[in-house]
Amino acid sequence: MKHDDCLFCKIIDGEIPSAKVYEDDHVYAFMDISQVTTGHTLVIPKVHTKDIYETPAEVASELFSRVPKIARAIKKVYKPAGINLLNNNEIMAGQSVFHLHIHIIPRYGDEDGFDSKWITRDNEFSTEELNEIADKIHGAIE
Ligand code: 5GP
Ligand code: ZN
Repeated sequence: MKHDDCLFCKIIDGEIPSAKVYEDDHVYAFMDISQVTTGHTLVIPKVHTKDIYETPAEVASELFSRVPKIARAIKKVYKPAGINLLNNNEIMAGQSVFHLHIHIIPRYGDEDGFDSKWITRDNEFSTEELNEIADKIHGAIE
């Protein structure tokens, strides 16, 4: 369902123009207006869902199932050395548009303007601590 005040719903409807990459019944993909790197693409579900927490499994499934072929197309055209996928949820995590989206970010080198190196870190947790954290999350899965 369309959400009245949503920028990405307006993009899906064509009320706001976008550089379309791909579209089908469930998914729309277009160029991010502020290309972090060349080919930076956003993939969104046509149904409005605010973020990952609110997203039904079927919507997530339809959305993510389109990502590989779009990523392959970017790889084919721009031949990036790598590709990062990113999904921000809530302001603290950098979400600025509240319609779920996956960023596909082609990577061209260390100086290409995007830093994903934060994701690896020296492991400071013991096996017991990791199991404890895992058990807490596991216990909350519905
Ligand atoms: P977020 O920060 O929520 O993860 O990502 C939102 C993205 O939407 C940003 O990277 C931003 O550049 C992009 N964006 C914001 N407004 C527009 C717009 O009007 N058109 C397009 N194509 N992208 C937009
Ligand atoms: Zn929306």
